[in-house]
Amino acid sequence: MEREKKPAAAQGLELLRTKGYKITPQRRAVLEALDGGEQFPTAQQVLEIVRKQQPDVSLDTVYRNLTLMVGLGIVHEIYRSAGNAYEMVEPGHHHHHLVCTACGKTECIDICPMNKIYEKEAEKRGFLVTGHVFEFYGLCWSCRSKLAKK
Ligand SMILES: [Zn+2]
Ligand SMILES: [Zn+2]
Ligand SMILES: [Zn+2]
Repeated sequence: MEREKKPAAAQGLELLRTKGYKITPQRRAVLEALDGGEQFPTAQQVLEIVRKQQPDVSLDTVYRNLTLMVGLGIVHEIYRSAGNAYEMVEPGHHHHHLVCTACGKTECIDICPMNKIYEKEAEKRGFLVTGHVFEFYGLCWSCRSKLAKK
């Protein structure tokens, strides 16, 4: 699948604008930090990048903006024991991850194992499903071969 040429940060800013959110310098910087460099940065890594432009930004501000963007579907939060990772996604794009519990290596997989049957079960209880979280946890190829050599 061909990646969109348009930078994801610009798309994210556009979505914020259309939803009526102000484009603050912090929001712009957080999106730009997610757009370049590390594909799956932690909030701390995002903060370090943002602080190069805006030394006064706090980790709390970064968290608040990341949470907002996760809620809007332009950032994906990946639960990891070594610290949650954040990934910029094209609005509405949905996929899952392989997460190595030994080294933290994270990889996108473009499939969704969730079946509509599960949503039907929720609907029976009067529950409206708006999303789900699902990642595979295990050992990456490199960590597996290190274990095998021991
Ligand atoms: Zn690994
Ligand atoms: Zn991903
Ligand atoms: Zn899914």
